Amino acid sequence: MNSFVEEFNFEDRILETSYREEDAETEVSLRPESISEYIGQEKAKEIMQIYIDAAKMRGEPLDHVLLYGPPGLGKTTLSNILANELGVNLRITSGPAIEKQGDLAALLTNLGKGDVLFIDEIHRLNRNIEEILYPAMEDFALDIIIGKGPAARSIRLPLQKFTLIGATTRAGQLTTPLRDRFGVLIRLELYTPEELATIVKRSASILEVPITEDGALEIASRARGTPRIANRLLKRVRDYAMVKCDGTISLEAAQAALNMLEIDELGLDNTDRRLLETIISFYDGGPVGLETLSATIGDKQLRLKTFMSPILCR
Ligand code: ADP
Repeated sequence: MNSFVEEFNFEDRILETSYREEDAETEVSLRPESISEYIGQEKAKEIMQIYIDAAKMRGEPLDHVLLYGPPGLGKTTLSNILANELGVNLRITSGPAIEKQGDLAALLTNLGKGDVLFIDEIHRLNRNIEEILYPAMEDFALDIIIGKGPAARSIRLPLQKFTLIGATTRAGQLTTPLRDRFGVLIRLELYTPEELATIVKRSASILEVPITEDGALEIASRARGTPRIANRLLKRVRDYAMVKCDGTISLEAAQAALNMLEIDELGLDNTDRRLLETIISFYDGGPVGLETLSATIGDKQLRLKTFMSPILCR
């Protein structure tokens, strides 16, 4: 069973939806800056535009927004656009990066009027840190305890009116008090191949890589509905087209490059195919729980759960 599990590569995959080192080079340059450049997610954009217009008309900061959906679909990008449209500053942090109550207090006290604070993976915020957010979101105030024991007393510091944007891949893991404090809830959906092809063409033009319509669609249809993956595949295919072809990403170049990377027409790689084979041969095609599947392939550290559940549980 041990050699069996070694055939499964969960950590180092091109198709990983979370941010990878190789994305750093283009993550910022390919990121759309305005709502018109943000492709797809029509429903989310419509809701967002209404709240932005209403906030501008009232001259008030936008209500707190919770964005949820799988990684790589454009949550950070949308927050960036929102801050641009409102003409305010954006501060970006994440749940696991905030280690102490003081870290969050410092972030909150440094926000100006109307500024946006973006907390990625907000479901991973420590519970006692999360409690600081309740009065901050509701009353724009910070409750601080000074001193210890019987001499301890609480003082309330006023904050500027700000907008919190929380992003999560697991809305169900948010505590009720936190979820209830968001006025706007927006779910981001997987992109269609056509929408992804438009994103690929836009990215190719920024990277100054010639690409054909069908070349873009080929990359898009193997990108699992996720712009981050589409952009990553585009860069790999660009390298292949440069070395093996004339530099243009044609249908043939895209197919050959993606086949070489062993990413098939459905956007599945070796690990996915092996996993599906296991489900078919051991469990008659399923259903089967993630922990049972981990045990079957000898995956003792439950890497399957960490790396694959966002994909398997969509
Ligand atoms: P998330 O925060 O949901 O993990 P990001 O906002 O960081 O995802 O998006 C990952 C990358 O995908 C961005 O750098 C951007 O280039 C691209 N992207 C995401 N959404 C869109 C979109 N709607 N249109 C164009 N590019 C997008």
